[in-house]
Amino acid sequence: MQKTMKAAVWQEKGRVVLEDRPVPTIQEPTDAIVRVTRSSICSSDLHIIHGTVPRAQENVILGHEFTGEIIETGTGVKRFRVGDRVSVNVETFCGECYFCKRGYVNNCIHGGWELGCRIDGGQAEFVRIPMADQGLTHIPDGVSDEAALFNGDILATGYWAASIAEIKPADTAVVLGAGPAGLCTMMCARLYSPAKIIAVDTNAERLALAKAKGLADILLNPEETDVVQEILQLTDGRGADRVLEAAGGKDTFQTAWQAARPNAVVVLVALYPEAQALPLHIMYGKNLTFKTGGVDANACTEIMELVRCGKLDTSCLITHRAPLNDILEGYRIFENKADGCIKWVVTPFER
Ligand SMILES: [Zn+2]
Ligand SMILES: [Zn+2]
Repeated sequence: MQKTMKAAVWQEKGRVVLEDRPVPTIQEPTDAIVRVTRSSICSSDLHIIHGTVPRAQENVILGHEFTGEIIETGTGVKRFRVGDRVSVNVETFCGECYFCKRGYVNNCIHGGWELGCRIDGGQAEFVRIPMADQGLTHIPDGVSDEAALFNGDILATGYWAASIAEIKPADTAVVLGAGPAGLCTMMCARLYSPAKIIAVDTNAERLALAKAKGLADILLNPEETDVVQEILQLTDGRGADRVLEAAGGKDTFQTAWQAARPNAVVVLVALYPEAQALPLHIMYGKNLTFKTGGVDANACTEIMELVRCGKLDTSCLITHRAPLNDILEGYRIFENKADGCIKWVVTPFER
């Protein structure tokens, strides 16, 4: 068994490096040690690197979206055994506290978003998973690690966003942003049978993908058209029934509430790098419901079942695949959306 491993470490604002680190060991009886088989680069990693995630800890190993094989379990782990294939939940949670019991696992008093943020994450060869019985999901036979890779983070985010948006059959749902989280949000919104999904993004390639994969019905590019006016026209002047904001751009919050009809639900999934203005004096009388924040990744079992039976398929997001050796190049390409990159998948380190 090797003693050291390679890992992508956030050292300080603006600086990520590939380092040698000790292979993690069991610290609590509820821990499991996982050999990482696939991980990914997520936009939230970029937010950490740029110093806009206050809870992030310097010198942490990045990566909160990954799959692996269990190589060791603590004596308190009941649901998993050595050799099990697992996908990992972005959130570490106890399952017992006030918030966990109500499904608000993001606000677990013993956890929340920890992996790759406050404790070492999965852009490494091995990772320690605390409270493994809660934070892991079995990958069933017939589902590849890659097919389950996004279940615990961006797909969980899309699933959560669509579920709290209260989409009803025949609604018009607008999804702002056709990046990884936006595309996942569209595919999960589909589960609720809206009449149409309108996808909004400045990236024509990503919009085209959303259409080609049947995730969106109507495409709007703010660089080519007045998005709010178009949405009003498409809805007999009312506005959209549901708006899901997954872009996090400079003006996208304003677009989100302006595109919504009176009494709409507006879900804000985006992680904004700066404060947003809430012009309540202009909104008065529109009676909007805003739902904000970070994913409660409490439905990973259901998501895995939907992946297993083909109702959710994220394979179209994977545009790049390279070993951990090349992860710094991956960060550069992913951040610049170069070479049509949507998701950069990290395969095991090659010696
Ligand atoms: Zn993420
Ligand atoms: Zn809890």
